[in-house]
Amino acid sequence: MRSPLVPYVTAWSSERAARPHVITRGAGIGYADESPFDRDSDGVLWAREGVSPGRGKPEFGRVHLLRQRRAMRRLLCQICARAADRNADGVLWLIGEDDAEDMTTTHPPVCVPCAAQAVRACPYLRGGHVLVRARTCVPLGVHGVVYEPGFPFPRVHRDGGVTYDDPRIRWTRAAQLIVQLEGCTTVNRNASAPEPDQAP
Ligand SMILES: [Zn+2]
Repeated sequence: MRSPLVPYVTAWSSERAARPHVITRGAGIGYADESPFDRDSDGVLWAREGVSPGRGKPEFGRVHLLRQRRAMRRLLCQICARAADRNADGVLWLIGEDDAEDMTTTHPPVCVPCAAQAVRACPYLRGGHVLVRARTCVPLGVHGVVYEPGFPFPRVHRDGGVTYDDPRIRWTRAAQLIVQLEGCTTVNRNASAPEPDQAP
């Protein structure tokens, strides 16, 4: 029996999350030992996680934050890390039904051969999903841990999504990028695989 393919964005057991000391810095949070690599180009603070894919065991259901962000920014397939599929209607995305309500997602795009694999590999998508083409995707915000002011240190308030235009973004330690899909065309709904005529 073939061993199951491990999606590119899946975190491995050797890739442990670091627990840097979170402090108040200006009107928000920072790390006590912060470096420029801890923030993205929008100034958002990101969680720290080891990078050693292939070592240990894959932890299906846990997404590696750097690979998730890279796949989103470069429009790479979340499973094989090759370019996601694109045609005249746009890039191919496989999103959960609740994401389809507002067309925002933390799940990077897919290529056609991997779309069916993504449904099998992702418990969230097995619960119902929509295959769409999107002409553009715009970074909307991040999903992560939101802090609130506290003394002597900021306190964890909740886990959740925060948009870039929300002042709480300065109080958020990001773990996943959220994108807004625009100019969407539904390919199919609750499909186990793309239609054959969608093949490249
Ligand atoms: Zn792929």
